[in-house]
Amino acid sequence: MTPPPVTHRTAEENLGLGYLAAVLREDGFEVRVLDGWLAGLTASQLASAVMSGPVPLFVGFACYRSNMDSAVTTAALVRSGMPDVPIVAGGFGPSFHTGDFLAAGFDVVVRGEGELTVVELARFYRDGTPVLDSILGISFRAGDGVVHRPARPLIADLDTVPMPARDTLGLTLARRSPVHVQTSRGCQASCTFCSIVAFERLGGGPTWRQRSISGVVDELAALAARGVEHVKVIDDSLLEPPRDLSWCSALADEIARRGVRVALRGQIRADRVDDAVLAELRRAGFWSFACGIENFSPTALRRMAKRSRVENNVAALEAFRLAGMYVQAGHILFDHATTTGELEENWAGMARFSWTISKGVFTEMYAAAGTAYTRALARTGRLEAGPAAAGTAGLGNAVYAVADPAAAAAYAALKRWQRSHARIYDQTVDPLAAPKALAPRERPEFHQLCVALREEDLRFFRSVLDLVHAGACVAETVEFTEARIVETAPFYVRATARVEHAYRRAGLVYDAEDNPFLC
Ligand code: SF4
Repeated sequence: MTPPPVTHRTAEENLGLGYLAAVLREDGFEVRVLDGWLAGLTASQLASAVMSGPVPLFVGFACYRSNMDSAVTTAALVRSGMPDVPIVAGGFGPSFHTGDFLAAGFDVVVRGEGELTVVELARFYRDGTPVLDSILGISFRAGDGVVHRPARPLIADLDTVPMPARDTLGLTLARRSPVHVQTSRGCQASCTFCSIVAFERLGGGPTWRQRSISGVVDELAALAARGVEHVKVIDDSLLEPPRDLSWCSALADEIARRGVRVALRGQIRADRVDDAVLAELRRAGFWSFACGIENFSPTALRRMAKRSRVENNVAALEAFRLAGMYVQAGHILFDHATTTGELEENWAGMARFSWTISKGVFTEMYAAAGTAYTRALARTGRLEAGPAAAGTAGLGNAVYAVADPAAAAAYAALKRWQRSHARIYDQTVDPLAAPKALAPRERPEFHQLCVALREEDLRFFRSVLDLVHAGACVAETVEFTEARIVETAPFYVRATARVEHAYRRAGLVYDAEDNPFLC
């Protein structure tokens, strides 16, 4: 099962649950899949759903850090109703916050990739063998202590993994959410802040693995036969070497040969994009990408250890524009060492590409557990003290300060501005970023709204930069921001009315929570 997370995004399917169900069924186990996010279930409704069925061998939770609290609540309710049933957690959250999950009452935590481990665990709970103490990639409580078994190597050949179970397909389609497909896992880059590479490195071995084109197209064809028209390819990085232009052509050819017609959205690195690649990916069915631009300053990109340089970012965005594709440009504006010179470079880049899809100009580097960035902050004494720094509060991200006083004054202003408008950014972007199963004619209205919000943001960002260049401190930039929020309120009232009208026309519902990262 997966409990609902705290998030500003609307619900999407959890492909991890589908993969776990598939490998367990292949091994002869009966599996019930419960997705509390897609089904809109509270923790107590989810626990009731678990307990309404036959007593299971064990109950497994697929978790991020963002649904840890609801997982803990659900697990406690299940435990009180079925005290003898073991409770297991796996996923990014338990892998990087193992001790927190065990302390919260989970019996076993699965660290890293879960398919092989969950089958061995199920056999243990059914037959008593293999014994717990021999299973790789788990941590469990034993007496007063905790046993951390060695990591499990990653699955080398992804074609050996069965296609994911699609128990929740009806819920996904009813929400007009895209269906998820995975063609590869991991990424070969090493961005300092990235939890994905940290997760892949838990098991050792290559940090990027791929499925065959025929296997991927088999899955797309099977989904299309069940009425699926919109697919989000959830690869961490679609086009890692050895994939290249010829791979894109082969994918497009195979999709055409099989007569599969699905609209595809993917995630791609800026330094892997060019006109020819996008032309072939468009032929395969891609209409939209998320691309981690992160920054328009060479010094900031170097701190992040990004492989893409500013020129790659610019060339990629120009290629997306030429290809007529929608692109959600991931951005990280602030980290501990941001300068006003870097902010100027970013203002210029954002203004040049104001048509990209993004959730407001303010973003900051998250210091997530397990990442190289967080380790470096800790090593250099930059982590702030307090419960969040220990990873036990909020969403588990550590806290640090922006060191440069002028950049810190801009940070305070932009963050206050973002808090004031986050809801409308998130609501406007969600149909294109998630993305929803929109027909091509339904997309431009949301895109025009995104651009209008972006342009207002950029005018504000410009004013803040001018203020800090004139020597304004934090109190002065925040006071300026408060006044500007009041002054521009009519614009946001009109924009909110337009967004709600667009939602009604498209038959969409925005039922997400406020952005939890802006605390
Ligand atoms: S390119 Fe993206 S997925 Fe790859 S390491 Fe960097 S942030 Fe992570």
